[in-house]
Amino acid sequence: MEPIELIAGVWVFPGAVNLGVIAAEGRAVFIDAGLDDSAARKLWRWAEEAGLKPHAAILTHAHADHFGGAYLWEKRGLPLYASEPEGAMMENPEFEPIFLFSGASPHPELLSKFTLAKPCRISQTLAQGPLELGSISLEIVALPGHAPAQIGVRVGPVLFCADALFPPEILSKHPIPFCHDFSGALSSLRNVEEAEVVVPGHGPILRNAEVRGACGEFRDRLEQIKDLVFQETTNPKSAEEILAKVAAELGAKLQTITEFLLARTTILAALTALVREGLVEAVLEGNLLWRRR
Ligand SMILES: [Zn+2]
Repeated sequence: MEPIELIAGVWVFPGAVNLGVIAAEGRAVFIDAGLDDSAARKLWRWAEEAGLKPHAAILTHAHADHFGGAYLWEKRGLPLYASEPEGAMMENPEFEPIFLFSGASPHPELLSKFTLAKPCRISQTLAQGPLELGSISLEIVALPGHAPAQIGVRVGPVLFCADALFPPEILSKHPIPFCHDFSGALSSLRNVEEAEVVVPGHGPILRNAEVRGACGEFRDRLEQIKDLVFQETTNPKSAEEILAKVAAELGAKLQTITEFLLARTTILAALTALVREGLVEAVLEGNLLWRRR
């Protein structure tokens, strides 16, 4: 993991989850912490070796791969910042596997570190707008959709957009991206599209035309999923039956319970969007089925 300096004082640490550092006058603010303590430990060491004192960390959303390492920073006394209710989830991470398992006590597979992070305490709640941290000036950007209250961080021309955008490289590996709310995801994408330099949570750093291209492809994929879900409601089907059809159509291989449940959440989000548009309704025919109105 070699850091890349994007503009003076702003670095990306590329990895399974891209982490960020913004520094000024000897202090550093971290963006996201990674899945567990290994990247968090390396980032801290790098900052100290560069003569930077860790000042705070901004956690973009309550998915284990983005905040799992934050408990280590909390132990070292670093204040952690997050939005609400993402921060509440980070303090009570057992809710992530419970939500994925429809509120029931979760299947043991969901208790791995990929869906159950160690808890961390949030020092300050963040809302959209400018933020001064010591001599570091940045802007918190609301990017809901992938998660209920996901945030991004803008500094100069750079936007750390977390999972508001999955670039083509990631979409080809995960054809059904996790989505909590379609209309939020689509409007957040318009914010991402305006940035000159975008650091997504996963995949390569994007610049200028690459940003527009990747946002276009991601928007097309979300709309394609919604269209495929709508097509499948000609005859009433369960969400799981619709998922099987959409996965086959997009070549998504759902090989674990976790992958299946993550993709099912996206299908349910598409169904909610179609219900809100008056196109689909839920019917109870022994099972909970979805059909066109
Ligand atoms: Zn995520």
